Amino acid sequence: MIRQKCRPQNRNLRQSCALESIMVSLRPLVLFLPLSIVGCAGPGSASTAVCGPDSFVPNYSTEVNLKRWESLPIRVYFQTDTNTGGVNIENESRQGFDDWEAALSQNLWTEVSSAASANLVVRVQASSPQSTLAETTIYFFSGQNIITRAEMVIYTWPSLPTGGYAGTAAHELGHALGINGHSSNVADIMYFTGNATDLLTQNDLNTIRTAYCGFGLLKTAPPSRAAGVLVSEKISCPAP
Ligand SMILES: [Zn+2]
Repeated sequence: MIRQKCRPQNRNLRQSCALESIMVSLRPLVLFLPLSIVGCAGPGSASTAVCGPDSFVPNYSTEVNLKRWESLPIRVYFQTDTNTGGVNIENESRQGFDDWEAALSQNLWTEVSSAASANLVVRVQASSPQSTLAETTIYFFSGQNIITRAEMVIYTWPSLPTGGYAGTAAHELGHALGINGHSSNVADIMYFTGNATDLLTQNDLNTIRTAYCGFGLLKTAPPSRAAGVLVSEKISCPAP
C-alpha cells in the first residue's frame, strides 16, 4: 500500500540502498569482478547468489521454517467488517499490516474487493473459548518454500487493550508472509504470544528480509518446480 522504494528508515536499509547504488555504478565492472560485490552470498556469480542466515543480522531465521511468496504485494481481502467495543477490527488489522510496510519501506500488501481475487483472506470471528488470539494457515506444495495462498482468522477479545488488534494483525501478517513458527525472544512481535509493545524489532524485520533476500537486492534460489502435493500448515497464536 506504499509506493516509495528504497526509502531508508534504518541503518540496514540505508546499507541496502547504498549497496544497490554501488551495484548500479559498478555495473560495467560486474563482468570482471563478480565476487567483489556479492558480499552476503558467498562464492558465486550475482545471478546465483543466495541469502543465508547471516545475511541480515540479528534474526531468528534458524528458529522458524521460513517460506515466502513468489511476488509481492500479496492481495488481501477482508471478509468481515467487525465493530467491537467501538473498535473496527479490520481497520486495526490494516494498521498492523501497514506497520510492516512502514518499517521495511516495502509494498507488501494491497487490498482487493473479493475473496476470489485474493491471496490472503482475513476474517474476524468471536473466540470461544478464549484461548487463541489468532490463527494463520498457509498453503504450499510439499517440498517447496513458496506460499500459494493463506487464510487468517482474528478472534475478538473484549478485554484486548486499544491497539491490541493491530499488534495481533502485525504478528499474523508475519506468519502470512512466511515466518512459519515463532521467535523465542519475548521482545519480538513474532514471540508466540506477541510482544508487550506491539512494535516490530530488528529481529523481526531481518527475519523477513532473510526470507525475501533483501527484497530483490540479491537473488534467491529458484523454487523447485517438481510436482508436489498441496499442503497446509495452521499456525495458532495463543493468548498470553
Ligand atoms: Zn503466531
